[in-house]
Amino acid sequence: MSSLFTRIIQGQIPGEFVLRGELWVAILDINPSAPGHCLLIPVAEAQHLHELPAATLAGLGPALARLTAAVRRATGCPALNVVVNDGPAAGQEVPHAHLHVIPRFPDDGRRAGLFGGKRAEAAALAEMGARLRAALAEP
Ligand code: 5GP
Repeated sequence: MSSLFTRIIQGQIPGEFVLRGELWVAILDINPSAPGHCLLIPVAEAQHLHELPAATLAGLGPALARLTAAVRRATGCPALNVVVNDGPAAGQEVPHAHLHVIPRFPDDGRRAGLFGGKRAEAAALAEMGARLRAALAEP
């Protein structure tokens, strides 16, 4: 069965579209974290970003830049969070990849939230750096 977002894209379920492209669409989130909270959604259906077709991924940057500029203009927000919940353990509820674009204002009481890490040991950074470089070198 098609995902919720595919059904919205196909018009079977209503959605407030703000951008409609061949590869990417943007709709307003039905439960916005702030007015203007948009979801940038690939027309191609895959749960995770890395599973999307190459052409879709190539179109992501321009679509995201267009959308973030429009959200800034339309809401007057001076800042944004762009968030991807890439898998259920990261909070993904709809198994069709998407990016949240959330307007932010000074002192709006929201937290970027996920990034409150502790200072890493140099050895731990070096070891993880090596693992990631090796993973990137894999075909
Ligand atoms: P996730 O947790 O998967 O990253 O985010 C899914 C998002 O989809 C949530 O922010 C939720 O509010 C939004 N959402 C769920 N159902 C609908 C819907 O039917 N229409 C729209 N526009 N957004 C939805």
